[in-house]
Amino acid sequence: MPETGVSRHQLLIDGKWVDPVDGAHIDTHDPSTGQKLAELAAAGPWDVDLAVQSARRAFDDGLWRRMPAEARARLLHRFADLIEEHADELASIDTRDCGKPYAFIRNVDLPNMADLVRYMAGWATKLEGRTIPLSRQDPTAYLSYTRRQPVGVVAQVIPWNGAVLAATWKLAPALAAGCTVVLKPAELASLGPLRLAELAVEAGLPDGVVNVITGTGADAGAPLVAHPQVDKVAFTGSVETGKGIVAAAAQNLTKLTLELGGKSPAVIYDDADLDLAVDGALAAVLYAQGEACTAGSRLYVQRPVHDEVLSRIEAAVPKLRLGESSDPDVVVGPLVSERQRSKVISFVDGAVGDGAEVIAGGATARDPGYFLEPTVLGGVHDQMTVAREEIFGPVVSVMAFDDEAEVIRRANDTTFGLAAGVWTTNVARAHRFANAVNAGAVWVNCYNVFDAALPFGGFKRSGWGKEMGEEALDGYLQSKAVTLAIS
Ligand code: NAP
Ligand code: MG
Repeated sequence: MPETGVSRHQLLIDGKWVDPVDGAHIDTHDPSTGQKLAELAAAGPWDVDLAVQSARRAFDDGLWRRMPAEARARLLHRFADLIEEHADELASIDTRDCGKPYAFIRNVDLPNMADLVRYMAGWATKLEGRTIPLSRQDPTAYLSYTRRQPVGVVAQVIPWNGAVLAATWKLAPALAAGCTVVLKPAELASLGPLRLAELAVEAGLPDGVVNVITGTGADAGAPLVAHPQVDKVAFTGSVETGKGIVAAAAQNLTKLTLELGGKSPAVIYDDADLDLAVDGALAAVLYAQGEACTAGSRLYVQRPVHDEVLSRIEAAVPKLRLGESSDPDVVVGPLVSERQRSKVISFVDGAVGDGAEVIAGGATARDPGYFLEPTVLGGVHDQMTVAREEIFGPVVSVMAFDDEAEVIRRANDTTFGLAAGVWTTNVARAHRFANAVNAGAVWVNCYNVFDAALPFGGFKRSGWGKEMGEEALDGYLQSKAVTLAIS
């Protein structure tokens, strides 16, 4: 029996809540207190197979993909309504599970989730093909047209940072396209996605259209992405796990989209509005205590304002309210786990060993809970590990630059290409930067502005494919060209 106050969860397969075949469970904790929060069903290959079979049946029987698009859109609108009605609850669950501050989840993630489900519901009735005249034939002899059809059964694997948001980014376009889904959330943050899926069922989606498998990456994730009945895999997470998923998908040539990490540059020019720039650059790296794929962890400041910016940052950082993530005034919550905190601390220690200097923060904070003070590093060189690898924690390296060509070269000197930010009052310079930087999202005088209508996804090793916007649908649709001889 679960301990008092600790909930126990099942798997969602074929519209029903079921225990895993071997009855195994794993614990999940509140990162703000370290206390046990819930027991999750630990799925294994048998459960994965049942979930995939359920999604397969739901796809092949045609109830979902052949449902009139207007009816599918209506169900998605109902799902969006339920997300809104349960916004406080979803935000509370996700906050306690992954440690992201409540205010960010409730005020940023939840509105975006409802928007995205509605935006994608709108597309359900607009998945049009084209009529294409054949180029080497009498134009009246043939009729050729394309149809856009769903790819089929989709395996979606998501990480722990912003779990309900990540789940919605994955589910909404897949469902609008007419695909069926098996979702595998991270074991560190499965409670929000489980509740979200329950709302999808309550909205009236047919059984088997959304299935959720909880458990570890090794026992639940790996068999899911390698399953021969899965037509497409959509993954968000680390580069290393992403490489393993590419290898697994290669066995069956399963279609694949990836949203991987980043090492995003934030650039402050000497003509910037410094109030705006300092606040923006801090938010860029500290949003969700740096546990965000877009974290602007390399801050380049033009030399004439470098010292001024650094001293403003040094003064601002200790004033940021750190504490339990469910406190609505907190902006710096705990890291997701002790393991993650140790990993982040080892980046800071490594940087100091390489000659960097801790300008602010750097110490663990509060006990219990996995807190780390926002940390500002000076004296960092481009080749240091801290300037090259994704940290996924509240650590920013502040570096000086002299001119535009130099900062663009250094901004692009990374294997990643997810996001970039620039602060300047020179409009032409802003556009030059936006044009030259190799990143899927560029923010000028702002950062982390997301919208359901805007495509989001990385260049280079930050990923394949897009989330949100019309382009997200491309990952879940395939074009069929039909040609009729009509003469
Ligand atoms: P991860 O290993 O990439 O996990 C992401 C998801 O993949 C989780 O659901 C995970 O399950 C699952 N998974 C793990 N191994 C798998 C496998 N062999 N086959 C299929 N699925 C598998 O990320 P993490 O370990 O949570 O975090 C490690 C680092 O990744 C972080 O420190 C950060 O640098 C980076 N990261 C980046 C992002 C991003 O959005 N770019 C997000 C998260 C993490 P379990 O977690 O349940 O094992
Ligand atoms: Mg948790």
